[in-house]
Amino acid sequence: MQVHKDIKVELDETLEEKLQLLSPDFSHYRILKKSIDARKRHAPHEVYTVEVYKKGESEKLPKFEFKKQKWTKNPPVVIGSGPAGLFCALRLVEQGIPCILLERGNPAEKRIFSINKFWRYGVLDPNDNVCFGEGGAGFFSDGKLITRIKSHHIPYVMDRLVQFGAPEEIRFLANPHIGSDKIRRIIPQIRKFLTEHGCEIHFNTIFSELVIKDGSVIGVQTQDGREWRSEHIVLATGHSSDEVFKDIFKKKINIEGKSFAIGLRIEHSQNFIDRTQYGIYCEHPKLKAANYKLADHDKKSGVGVYSFCMCPGGYVLSSGTDPDGIVVNGMSNYNRNSPFANAAIVVSVDHQKLFGKDVWGGLRLRKDLELLCFEAVQARGGTHQVPVQITTDFIEGRLGNALPTSSPSGAVAVDFNQILPDLISSPLKKSLKSFNKKIPGFISTESQLHGIESRTSSPIRIPRNPQTLQSTSHKNLYPAGEGAGYAGGITSAAVDGVRIAEAIVNSI
Ligand SMILES: Cc1cc2nc3c(=O)[nH]c(=O)nc-3n(C[C@H](O)[C@H](O)[C@H](O)COP(=O)(O)OP(=O)(O)OC[C@H]3O[C@@H](n4cnc5c(N)ncnc54)[C@H](O)[C@@H]3O)c2cc1C
Repeated sequence: MQVHKDIKVELDETLEEKLQLLSPDFSHYRILKKSIDARKRHAPHEVYTVEVYKKGESEKLPKFEFKKQKWTKNPPVVIGSGPAGLFCALRLVEQGIPCILLERGNPAEKRIFSINKFWRYGVLDPNDNVCFGEGGAGFFSDGKLITRIKSHHIPYVMDRLVQFGAPEEIRFLANPHIGSDKIRRIIPQIRKFLTEHGCEIHFNTIFSELVIKDGSVIGVQTQDGREWRSEHIVLATGHSSDEVFKDIFKKKINIEGKSFAIGLRIEHSQNFIDRTQYGIYCEHPKLKAANYKLADHDKKSGVGVYSFCMCPGGYVLSSGTDPDGIVVNGMSNYNRNSPFANAAIVVSVDHQKLFGKDVWGGLRLRKDLELLCFEAVQARGGTHQVPVQITTDFIEGRLGNALPTSSPSGAVAVDFNQILPDLISSPLKKSLKSFNKKIPGFISTESQLHGIESRTSSPIRIPRNPQTLQSTSHKNLYPAGEGAGYAGGITSAAVDGVRIAEAIVNSI
């Protein structure tokens, strides 16, 4: 077996042609990494790292099998079935550890109906929406699996996603992406595996409080009056359950304010983004819907503005969890074939600088801005639509008209200058102008801002011991995933769930 790194394959070449030159006697190969290099200095091309094998050699595929544990204690209770909760439960049952999974929303198949009702008619189910329900916030997502974390658990997460139906290519693509349509089919497969291997799942079951004795968490209560006792409670409730944060604060669990980011989601035509990124090659069949990544940092103020969760060929979604608040996010299907491209452009919110010791400062700012967006839409005669503003109107400070949008909720024109505090709107405008230099036309009468992108990550952290991964104030409590401040995206949340499962195994 031989490894060839960074093989450059032009758009009109094939990988096999290149391999014939590099290893004339190769019989088969396995792609370890594939990316598209579309930097402007040259024509876009593919870059591969490949393992090639001669006849008779077999591929060395990674295998993930685990030692079965002897478990005599109460089953661990995992609260929340987002990527963190699901992967924690998965890793537990794979080791022979039964567990209980509590989820406030519906199973995936039913959840779609609640979400459609909200988008079409504005009827919000507070327990079953774009953020809550089986699959968590990751369920209705673009399904980008890219992450900045480094972890030896990432190949395991990809492997299991493939096992449950994700495309094989996520193992090697530099920008792995599943798409909302495929994720929706993968989640029920994970559920089937979990229930067949010792995980008891309770939907429509809302965690209400922790049961604490002598400084240790010994169980949980749910809103329907039931109680589960366990020495292992995994809190993987995401960053949108304000009442969970309030309950654990009341119970004197250590929590702290965390920096996060807030901004608006910009939408262009995908065609425009393709042209800016690929130039004359933009219609080449080998090139998929183009993306971009932008960042700007103001040295003097320390404020960063950056593009986040870019969704080529995607949709802007209304994704709030409160009846009187509007939040946006983005998603796309596997083929990324909507005519729109959207990305959040967010401004960093430094917790320490802005709120000091006030733990709730970030959460309050987030809630206030979501409410202001809701009120602005109502004031303009709307109901549940997403507030929008043409980018040039935002820059020039005038209320204009709304452009067509990809959002299934529809749109109402507002003036974000009347909504956003200066600490968000000033850096946002400054950086939009700088991004316009990198991508000419980024600001135009044909691009539109949607508000508000306020749930980029959690404004709260639940600190934990770096070795045991248990709360720093209470034994037996394992804060997990994005809501606990230990993940920012599907892959990192899933990896965190796996780490928690490992910590539970190590605790026995
Ligand atoms: C529309 C959208 C698109 C996104 N796109 C991407 C993307 O392309 N790539 C990416 O990496 N990330 C994306 N994200 C972010 C990603 O989804 C999250 O980072 C990830 O889901 C966090 O995982 P988690 O398990 O920590 O929490 P969550 O996914 O938020 O899951 C928390 C779970 O806990 C449940 N829960 C909450 N409170 C309770 C309670 N009291 N009782 C019982 N259950 C409760 C919720 O119902 C939910 O199922 C997107 C998010 C959204 C909203």
